[in-house]
Amino acid sequence: MKRIGVFICWCGSNIAGTVDIDKVAAAAGTMNGVVYVDQNKYTCSEIGQAMIKDAIKEYKLDRVVIAACSPRMHENTFRKTVESAGLNPYYLEIANIREQCSWVHKDKEAGTAKAISLIRTAVAKAAMNEALFAVEMPITRRALVIGGGIAGIQAALDIADTGFEVDLVEREPSLGGRMAQLDKTFPTLDCSACILTPKMVDVAQHEKIRLFTYAEVEKVEGYLGNFTVTIRHRARSVDLQKCTGCGECLAKCPAKVASEFEEGLVQRRAIYTPFPQAVPNKPAIDRAHCRFFTTGKCKVCQKVCPADAIDYEMEDRLLTNGYGAIVVATGFDTHKLNDYGEYAYGKHPDVLTSLEFERLLNASGPTGGKILRPSDGKAPKTVAFIQCVGSRDKAKGNSYCAKICCMYTAKHAILLSEKVPGSKAFVFYIDVRTAGKDYEEFYTRAYEECGASYIKGNVSKVFPEGEKLLVRGVDVLSGALVELLVDMVVLAVSVDARADAKELAKKLAVTVNEHKFFTEAHPKLRPVDTQTAGIFLAGVCQGPKDIPETVAQASAAAVKVAAIFSKQSLLSNPTVAEVEQKLCSGDMSCMAVCPYGAISEQVVEERRGREMVTRKIARVNVALCQGCGACTVACRPGAINLKGFTNQQILAEVDAICL
Ligand code: FAD
Ligand code: SF4
Repeated sequence: MKRIGVFICWCGSNIAGTVDIDKVAAAAGTMNGVVYVDQNKYTCSEIGQAMIKDAIKEYKLDRVVIAACSPRMHENTFRKTVESAGLNPYYLEIANIREQCSWVHKDKEAGTAKAISLIRTAVAKAAMNEALFAVEMPITRRALVIGGGIAGIQAALDIADTGFEVDLVEREPSLGGRMAQLDKTFPTLDCSACILTPKMVDVAQHEKIRLFTYAEVEKVEGYLGNFTVTIRHRARSVDLQKCTGCGECLAKCPAKVASEFEEGLVQRRAIYTPFPQAVPNKPAIDRAHCRFFTTGKCKVCQKVCPADAIDYEMEDRLLTNGYGAIVVATGFDTHKLNDYGEYAYGKHPDVLTSLEFERLLNASGPTGGKILRPSDGKAPKTVAFIQCVGSRDKAKGNSYCAKICCMYTAKHAILLSEKVPGSKAFVFYIDVRTAGKDYEEFYTRAYEECGASYIKGNVSKVFPEGEKLLVRGVDVLSGALVELLVDMVVLAVSVDARADAKELAKKLAVTVNEHKFFTEAHPKLRPVDTQTAGIFLAGVCQGPKDIPETVAQASAAAVKVAAIFSKQSLLSNPTVAEVEQKLCSGDMSCMAVCPYGAISEQVVEERRGREMVTRKIARVNVALCQGCGACTVACRPGAINLKGFTNQQILAEVDAICL
């Protein structure tokens, strides 16, 4: 008979407010195998943990049930607690009576009954828990960073500066991401290129960093400490070793297409370097628009290239490397405006997105940094900025706040007043959100020093009116209809997750939320980790952020990677699948469902009567198994079990909850 101790946590009033702890404790005392019950205001506190350790020793407990918050919160903490009292950490069982009980019940009687039920379930399972042991695994001390915006750049530099090797994979021909497109940055108004370019150059020159531009992740296998990743290095059609970056080809290429970097405001050539400070500062041929690749005729770039660097025969290369940890830093897209026809975007050239406006502000942009109307090349004297386009809009856009638009719109209003003397900015807003150091002061500057007029209210329509644009909206503070004739309209577009985020998440076996932003392991306590050990998040791919927050998260991800690499070896997760040979029929349905490729066939020899026969059965690679349990469901004979969650343990829980 097991000697089980049950420890019930109040979690302040989080649990005790909706669950009658005394009643639960009394019920727990009557459960099979329970020899000790105690309660504590905060079980995770030092006092709470000491109480558990003392009770294990004094009452000779051999199994422990803690009824508290979700195991995602403190399972590791409590495993360490029981281990330090001499028990195997897997003798611990958690009954989640907070997230799954007190937080979802208002009625104390129902909450109390459910808490008792959950504890009975945990007690039944704890009685069947076996000792599990982790095994030591080696670590590949090289990190992979996916995405070369400011998040990926910062993470790569920080990891490399601790002395570890890093491969940075960027899918565009150059590093830089969105920050490279910006002009000046709030709240300090320092030039984006001036602070970004040195970091891009540092990446390219760092002896510990290998840079793969025009590249993407094709396949990811393995686990924390030992990932195997296949990278597709797309054919650039330009030999980077030979190319001197002279630019002859760019000038002569006859094929033109809208420039992505310039947000379609101007055209680029089919052979192109995205922007003047690009790293590497060498071109790539965009085969979808190149005349030679589309019609078979041209080769002008090859003819004019003095370095013989053009290589039309170049093919994609697949490179497979080992990595100990991965940082995902793939950033964001701006919201597409297909559903916002009322703002006349795409119908009138002087209605621009905020990113297009950034390019007009930028000295290396299409207008050399002058704010000029695309329609007639004149400087606009009046500009209406419309905030929250595609944000906080459940009906047509994103339900969430894009977090940066209030601040970059204030920046745009300030820069407009500097660049076009005598001009006037009108800002339509729902709320102005300025939560950040010096942000409120920056916003104040927009209307106090630079004369921007802030109008609280939505814009219902933008109409072309002669050479101008008529902006019709409402001022909700006065209730008055507002009609403004302006020279330009700038739409503060929302921040979307990358269109292919879900696809990448699938390759990495991590999750995305309903908006396709990568999900962190815990929103407060593990904002940089994913649920897959060894894969970390940095920047806007996890959710909207400005540059300071992005950089902070990237450095945090780098520290997490360095912490892994500084260990001698890693301990494996012992809750892995195991096959019971005599029950396995060898139909391998488990292999088909395993998302980690952890199951393979194995030929075994068995005695049948007097004869020795061979047959195939399933075999689990414990280093690859992540303990997801998919195989246990697929196995009809019930031959495959997840250690720590065996069929018998689960059935014991079901029996207990049905009592
Ligand atoms: P990104 O800049 O998007 O970089 C991600 C990189 O990953 C890109 O290079 C992309 O090509 C690459 N990538 C994507 N998918 C893959 C893949 N599958 N494989 C390989 N590579 C991939 N913030 C401020 O603090 N101050 C400002 O003044 C400011 N102004 C702004 C103005 C506008 C109009 C906008 C839209 C944003 C502004 N921001 C500002 C916010 C700032 O742009 C972001 O905080 C920052 O760019 C986030 O960097 P990131 O690296 O996370 O993402
Ligand atoms: Fe441009 Fe012609 Fe070279 Fe293609 S082959 S990149 S179209 S110059």
